[in-house]
Amino acid sequence: MAGGIEVKTPEQILVMRRAGLVVARTLATLRDAARVGLTTGELDQLAREQLAAQGATSSFLHYGAGYGVPPFPAVTCISVNDEIVHGIPGERVLADGDLVSVDFGAIVDGWHGDSALSFIVGEPRPHDVQLSEVTRQSMWRGVCAARLGGRIGDISAAVEGFVKTQRRRYGIVREFTGHGIGSAMHQAPDVPNHGKRGRGALIVPGMCLAIEPMLTLGGEATVTLDDDWTVVTLDHSRACHWEHTMTVTKNGLWVLTAEDGGEAELTALGAPFGPLAD
Ligand code: MG
Ligand code: MG
Repeated sequence: MAGGIEVKTPEQILVMRRAGLVVARTLATLRDAARVGLTTGELDQLAREQLAAQGATSSFLHYGAGYGVPPFPAVTCISVNDEIVHGIPGERVLADGDLVSVDFGAIVDGWHGDSALSFIVGEPRPHDVQLSEVTRQSMWRGVCAARLGGRIGDISAAVEGFVKTQRRRYGIVREFTGHGIGSAMHQAPDVPNHGKRGRGALIVPGMCLAIEPMLTLGGEATVTLDDDWTVVTLDHSRACHWEHTMTVTKNGLWVLTAEDGGEAELTALGAPFGPLAD
Protein backbone atom coordinates (compact mmCIF):
# COMPACT_ATOMS: atom_id res chain seq x y z
CA MET A 1 0.00 0.00 0.00
CA ALA A 2 1.17 3.56 -0.69
CA GLY A 3 -0.98 6.48 0.44
CA GLY A 4 -3.99 4.17 0.81
CA ILE A 5 -3.52 2.90 -2.74
CA GLU A 6 -2.79 -0.79 -3.39
CA VAL A 7 0.42 -1.15 -5.38
CA LYS A 8 0.53 -4.41 -7.33
CA THR A 9 3.57 -6.51 -8.17
CA PRO A 10 4.15 -7.37 -11.85
CA GLU A 11 3.05 -10.93 -11.05
CA GLN A 12 -0.23 -9.68 -9.60
CA ILE A 13 -0.84 -7.47 -12.62
CA LEU A 14 -0.33 -10.48 -14.88
CA VAL A 15 -3.15 -12.21 -12.97
CA MET A 16 -5.27 -9.08 -13.42
CA ARG A 17 -4.58 -9.35 -17.15
CA ARG A 18 -6.08 -12.86 -17.07
CA ALA A 19 -9.17 -11.45 -15.33
CA GLY A 20 -9.23 -8.62 -17.88
CA LEU A 21 -9.24 -11.05 -20.79
CA VAL A 22 -12.18 -12.94 -19.26
CA VAL A 23 -14.00 -9.62 -19.08
CA ALA A 24 -13.05 -8.61 -22.66
CA ARG A 25 -14.14 -11.93 -24.15
CA THR A 26 -17.39 -12.08 -22.19
CA LEU A 27 -18.36 -8.53 -23.16
CA ALA A 28 -17.60 -9.28 -26.81
CA THR A 29 -19.81 -12.36 -26.62
CA LEU A 30 -22.66 -10.39 -25.07
CA ARG A 31 -22.37 -7.58 -27.64
CA ASP A 32 -22.47 -10.11 -30.47
CA ALA A 33 -25.44 -11.98 -28.98
CA ALA A 34 -27.57 -8.93 -28.20
CA ARG A 35 -30.56 -8.36 -30.47
CA VAL A 36 -34.08 -7.03 -30.44
CA GLY A 37 -36.35 -9.47 -28.55
CA LEU A 38 -33.71 -10.83 -26.16
CA THR A 39 -34.14 -10.03 -22.47
CA THR A 40 -31.42 -8.44 -20.38
CA GLY A 41 -31.72 -11.46 -18.09
CA GLU A 42 -30.82 -13.74 -21.00
CA LEU A 43 -27.67 -11.69 -21.62
CA ASP A 44 -26.77 -12.00 -17.92
CA GLN A 45 -27.24 -15.77 -18.12
CA LEU A 46 -24.83 -15.86 -21.06
CA ALA A 47 -22.28 -13.97 -18.97
CA ARG A 48 -22.71 -16.48 -16.13
CA GLU A 49 -21.97 -19.31 -18.56
CA GLN A 50 -18.90 -17.47 -19.89
CA LEU A 51 -17.56 -16.96 -16.36
CA ALA A 52 -17.97 -20.64 -15.54
CA ALA A 53 -16.41 -21.73 -18.84
CA GLN A 54 -13.36 -19.53 -18.20
CA GLY A 55 -12.93 -20.60 -14.57
CA ALA A 56 -13.60 -17.14 -13.17
CA THR A 57 -16.08 -15.70 -10.69
CA SER A 58 -18.13 -12.50 -10.66
CA SER A 59 -17.07 -9.17 -9.17
CA PHE A 60 -20.69 -8.01 -9.17
CA LEU A 61 -22.81 -10.89 -7.84
CA HIS A 62 -23.91 -10.09 -4.26
CA TYR A 63 -21.93 -6.84 -4.32
CA GLY A 64 -23.13 -4.34 -1.74
CA ALA A 65 -24.08 -6.86 0.94
CA GLY A 66 -23.63 -5.07 4.25
CA TYR A 67 -23.77 -1.57 2.71
CA GLY A 68 -27.49 -1.03 3.38
CA VAL A 69 -28.57 -2.00 -0.14
CA PRO A 70 -29.86 -5.35 -1.39
CA PRO A 71 -26.94 -7.48 -2.63
CA PHE A 72 -26.62 -7.08 -6.40
CA PRO A 73 -28.40 -10.11 -7.92
CA ALA A 74 -26.58 -10.47 -11.26
CA VAL A 75 -23.12 -10.76 -12.85
CA THR A 76 -23.69 -7.86 -15.26
CA CYS A 77 -25.14 -4.40 -14.95
CA ILE A 78 -27.26 -3.74 -18.04
CA SER A 79 -28.42 -0.14 -18.37
CA VAL A 80 -30.78 0.77 -21.22
CA ASN A 81 -31.57 4.23 -22.68
CA ASP A 82 -32.03 6.69 -19.77
CA GLU A 83 -30.42 4.23 -17.35
CA ILE A 84 -26.82 5.34 -16.74
CA VAL A 85 -25.30 2.53 -14.66
CA HIS A 86 -26.17 -0.35 -12.30
CA GLY A 87 -29.23 -1.56 -14.22
CA ILE A 88 -30.36 -4.97 -12.95
CA PRO A 89 -30.79 -7.56 -15.73
CA GLY A 90 -34.16 -9.27 -15.81
CA GLU A 91 -37.37 -9.46 -17.81
CA ARG A 92 -36.75 -6.32 -19.86
CA VAL A 93 -36.98 -7.15 -23.56
CA LEU A 94 -34.53 -5.26 -25.78
CA ALA A 95 -36.44 -3.13 -28.29
CA ASP A 96 -35.54 -1.60 -31.64
CA GLY A 97 -33.16 1.33 -31.19
CA ASP A 98 -32.31 0.64 -27.53
CA LEU A 99 -28.99 2.04 -26.35
CA VAL A 100 -27.53 -0.68 -24.12
CA SER A 101 -24.58 -0.37 -21.73
CA VAL A 102 -23.18 -3.59 -20.29
CA ASP A 103 -20.81 -3.42 -17.31
CA PHE A 104 -19.05 -6.60 -16.22
CA GLY A 105 -16.40 -7.63 -13.72
CA ALA A 106 -14.54 -10.92 -13.21
CA ILE A 107 -12.23 -12.33 -10.55
CA VAL A 108 -9.31 -14.67 -11.31
CA ASP A 109 -7.30 -15.95 -8.33
CA GLY A 110 -8.57 -13.05 -6.21
CA TRP A 111 -7.78 -10.26 -8.72
CA HIS A 112 -10.43 -8.19 -10.50
CA GLY A 113 -11.05 -6.85 -13.99
CA ASP A 114 -13.83 -4.32 -14.70
CA SER A 115 -15.01 -3.02 -18.08
CA ALA A 116 -18.12 -1.70 -19.78
CA LEU A 117 -19.19 -1.14 -23.36
CA SER A 118 -22.24 0.22 -25.11
CA PHE A 119 -24.07 -0.70 -28.31
CA ILE A 120 -27.39 -0.18 -30.02
CA VAL A 121 -29.76 -2.99 -30.98
CA GLY A 122 -31.86 -2.65 -34.14
CA GLU A 123 -32.06 0.66 -35.97
CA PRO A 124 -29.77 3.21 -34.30
CA ARG A 125 -30.65 6.85 -33.71
CA PRO A 126 -27.80 9.07 -34.95
CA HIS A 127 -27.56 10.97 -31.64
CA ASP A 128 -27.14 7.70 -29.75
CA VAL A 129 -24.36 6.60 -32.09
CA GLN A 130 -22.57 9.90 -31.49
CA LEU A 131 -23.13 9.68 -27.73
CA SER A 132 -21.59 6.22 -27.58
CA GLU A 133 -18.66 7.19 -29.78
CA VAL A 134 -17.88 10.36 -27.80
CA THR A 135 -18.12 8.40 -24.52
CA ARG A 136 -15.81 5.67 -25.89
CA GLN A 137 -13.30 8.18 -27.21
CA SER A 138 -13.33 10.19 -23.96
CA MET A 139 -12.43 6.97 -22.14
CA TRP A 140 -9.44 6.45 -24.44
CA ARG A 141 -8.35 10.08 -24.00
CA GLY A 142 -8.42 9.45 -20.25
CA VAL A 143 -6.37 6.25 -20.60
CA CYS A 144 -3.79 8.05 -22.75
CA ALA A 145 -3.41 10.88 -20.21
CA ALA A 146 -2.04 8.49 -17.57
CA ARG A 147 1.73 8.49 -17.13
CA LEU A 148 4.19 7.67 -14.36
CA GLY A 149 4.77 10.80 -12.31
CA GLY A 150 1.49 12.28 -13.50
CA ARG A 151 -1.64 12.75 -11.41
CA ILE A 152 -5.14 11.29 -11.43
CA GLY A 153 -6.43 14.77 -12.34
CA ASP A 154 -4.60 14.48 -15.68
CA ILE A 155 -6.96 11.62 -16.58
CA SER A 156 -10.04 13.51 -15.36
CA ALA A 157 -9.07 16.64 -17.28
CA ALA A 158 -8.47 14.65 -20.47
CA VAL A 159 -11.92 13.02 -20.31
CA GLU A 160 -13.66 16.31 -19.57
CA GLY A 161 -11.59 18.27 -22.07
CA PHE A 162 -12.43 15.88 -24.89
CA VAL A 163 -16.16 16.01 -24.12
CA LYS A 164 -16.13 19.81 -23.89
CA THR A 165 -14.50 20.18 -27.32
CA GLN A 166 -17.47 18.47 -29.01
CA ARG A 167 -19.85 20.72 -30.94
CA ARG A 168 -22.76 19.13 -29.13
CA ARG A 169 -23.04 19.61 -25.37
CA TYR A 170 -23.03 16.35 -23.40
CA GLY A 171 -23.78 15.88 -19.71
CA ILE A 172 -20.85 14.42 -17.74
CA VAL A 173 -22.17 12.39 -14.80
CA ARG A 174 -20.28 13.46 -11.67
CA GLU A 175 -21.86 11.32 -8.95
CA PHE A 176 -20.09 8.18 -10.16
CA THR A 177 -16.41 7.88 -10.98
CA GLY A 178 -13.69 5.52 -12.05
CA HIS A 179 -11.61 3.93 -9.32
CA GLY A 180 -8.56 2.00 -8.29
CA ILE A 181 -8.91 -1.77 -8.74
CA GLY A 182 -6.99 -4.87 -7.69
CA SER A 183 -7.74 -7.34 -4.89
CA ALA A 184 -11.13 -5.58 -4.64
CA MET A 185 -13.18 -4.10 -7.46
CA HIS A 186 -13.51 -0.63 -5.94
CA GLN A 187 -10.41 0.85 -4.33
CA ALA A 188 -8.77 4.23 -3.85
CA PRO A 189 -8.26 6.49 -5.66
CA ASP A 190 -11.48 7.76 -7.24
CA VAL A 191 -10.98 8.72 -10.89
CA PRO A 192 -13.52 11.48 -11.62
CA ASN A 193 -14.56 12.31 -15.17
CA HIS A 194 -13.98 16.01 -14.63
CA GLY A 195 -11.13 17.82 -12.96
CA LYS A 196 -7.88 19.67 -13.29
CA ARG A 197 -4.48 18.52 -14.49
CA GLY A 198 -1.85 18.16 -11.81
CA ARG A 199 -4.36 17.41 -9.05
CA GLY A 200 -5.01 14.22 -7.16
CA ALA A 201 -2.95 11.13 -6.38
CA LEU A 202 0.42 10.51 -8.00
CA ILE A 203 0.43 7.79 -10.66
CA VAL A 204 3.02 5.15 -9.77
CA PRO A 205 4.01 1.72 -11.14
CA GLY A 206 1.73 -1.02 -9.84
CA MET A 207 -1.34 1.24 -9.74
CA CYS A 208 -4.35 -0.17 -11.62
CA LEU A 209 -7.26 2.08 -12.54
CA ALA A 210 -10.75 1.68 -13.97
CA ILE A 211 -11.50 4.65 -16.23
CA GLU A 212 -15.22 4.95 -16.92
CA PRO A 213 -16.89 8.05 -18.33
CA MET A 214 -20.69 8.25 -18.19
CA LEU A 215 -22.19 10.81 -20.58
CA THR A 216 -25.75 11.88 -21.32
CA LEU A 217 -27.56 13.63 -24.14
CA GLY A 218 -29.02 16.00 -21.52
CA GLY A 219 -28.24 17.00 -17.97
CA GLU A 220 -25.91 15.58 -15.36
CA ALA A 221 -28.39 14.98 -12.53
CA THR A 222 -29.15 11.37 -11.58
CA VAL A 223 -31.84 9.48 -9.69
CA THR A 224 -31.58 6.01 -8.14
CA LEU A 225 -34.72 3.92 -8.66
CA ASP A 226 -36.64 2.10 -5.92
CA ASP A 227 -34.69 -1.10 -6.64
CA ASP A 228 -31.79 0.70 -4.85
CA TRP A 229 -29.47 0.10 -7.80
CA THR A 230 -30.58 1.40 -11.19
CA VAL A 231 -29.30 4.94 -11.77
CA VAL A 232 -31.21 6.98 -14.37
CA THR A 233 -30.94 10.51 -15.70
CA LEU A 234 -33.28 12.94 -13.90
CA ASP A 235 -34.33 14.44 -17.26
CA HIS A 236 -34.73 10.98 -18.88
CA SER A 237 -32.13 11.83 -21.50
CA ARG A 238 -30.21 8.88 -22.86
CA ALA A 239 -26.96 7.90 -21.20
CA CYS A 240 -23.90 5.88 -22.13
CA HIS A 241 -21.05 4.22 -20.25
CA TRP A 242 -17.69 2.84 -21.37
CA GLU A 243 -14.97 1.50 -19.10
CA HIS A 244 -11.55 -0.14 -19.17
CA THR A 245 -9.16 -1.33 -16.47
CA MET A 246 -5.60 -0.19 -17.18
CA THR A 247 -2.15 0.11 -15.65
CA VAL A 248 0.95 2.20 -16.27
CA THR A 249 4.27 0.40 -16.65
CA LYS A 250 7.73 1.83 -17.15
CA ASN A 251 7.27 1.15 -20.86
CA GLY A 252 3.86 2.75 -21.28
CA LEU A 253 0.19 1.90 -20.92
CA TRP A 254 -1.49 -1.48 -20.75
CA VAL A 255 -5.26 -1.84 -20.99
CA LEU A 256 -5.94 -5.05 -19.10
CA THR A 257 -9.56 -5.43 -20.28
CA ALA A 258 -8.87 -4.89 -24.00
CA GLU A 259 -8.26 -8.04 -26.04
CA ASP A 260 -5.18 -6.44 -27.66
CA GLY A 261 -4.09 -4.73 -24.45
CA GLY A 262 -5.13 -1.44 -26.02
CA GLU A 263 -2.35 -1.51 -28.61
CA ALA A 264 -4.45 -0.36 -31.58
CA GLU A 265 -6.21 2.55 -29.84
CA LEU A 266 -3.12 3.69 -27.95
CA THR A 267 -0.98 3.65 -31.08
CA ALA A 268 -3.63 5.57 -33.04
CA LEU A 269 -3.61 8.25 -30.32
CA GLY A 270 0.19 8.39 -30.16
CA ALA A 271 0.43 6.88 -26.68
CA PRO A 272 3.06 4.26 -25.73
CA PHE A 273 1.87 0.65 -25.51
CA GLY A 274 3.72 -0.95 -22.62
CA PRO A 275 2.57 -4.44 -21.60
CA LEU A 276 4.38 -6.42 -18.95
CA ALA A 277 6.14 -9.52 -20.23
CA ASP A 278 4.93 -12.94 -19.06
MG1 MG B 1 -17.64 -1.52 -14.23
MG1 MG C 1 -15.81 0.30 -12.49
